[in-house]
Amino acid sequence: MKTMTVEQVTDMIIYACDAIIENKPYLTDIDSAIGDGDHGIGMAGGMAKAKEALLAERPFPDVNAVFKTTGMSMLNSIGGASGVIFGTMFLGGVKGMGALSLAKLMRGSLEAVKERGKAQPGDKTMVDALELAVLAMENSTGDDLPAALAAAKDAAHKGVEDTKQYVAKYGRAKSLLERAIGHQDAGATSVAIIFEAMHSYAANAAEADA
Ligand code: ADP
Ligand code: MG
Repeated sequence: MKTMTVEQVTDMIIYACDAIIENKPYLTDIDSAIGDGDHGIGMAGGMAKAKEALLAERPFPDVNAVFKTTGMSMLNSIGGASGVIFGTMFLGGVKGMGALSLAKLMRGSLEAVKERGKAQPGDKTMVDALELAVLAMENSTGDDLPAALAAAKDAAHKGVEDTKQYVAKYGRAKSLLERAIGHQDAGATSVAIIFEAMHSYAANAAEADA
């Protein structure tokens, strides 16, 4: 499958919202270990708002509009660091872009998140998962969307594993110093869940199309 319709992209993001909502307790547990335990609540609340807005506003004129509604909903409803960071993840690709591929969109998101939050790979944040996912999409040969998303979700999971080795430069985990080692980052976990869900949706859609 080379492209998805705007309606399919809308459904794919709603699917990702549901995955985060389902994983609220899991994300809360992870953030409780080294953070303040609010990541699941924040992400699930933000994604519930995003889903509500996507359902109310659909059909969208283009893919960018789908991402913009998602990002704005998260930005406006999640407090703390992750509202800005995850809102930006969905808004970043939108800046001055037309109908571009998901890889390009996500590259824009990654750059915007890095500019906003200043975190670099190795700082034990969601950037560790997002950067690997974007690189995997860019390096994915051919233009098969499910294959690119399969590579992206595997890379995001690898990024989550990587965060276990790092000390944190941001958030509450920072004060734990090396005691944070061994624990995965909550935001990186959210990124992996989002890419996992996008892949599942795209793979199912491709099968239905075939
Ligand atoms: P808060 O830190 O306000 O409690 P959350 O618990 O919802 O917010 O989210 C924490 C997650 O946000 C972290 O696990 C990390 O992945 C991500 N994060 C925090 N600060 C930054 C940053 N400056 N850049 C990128 N990601 C960040
Ligand atoms: Mg937190």
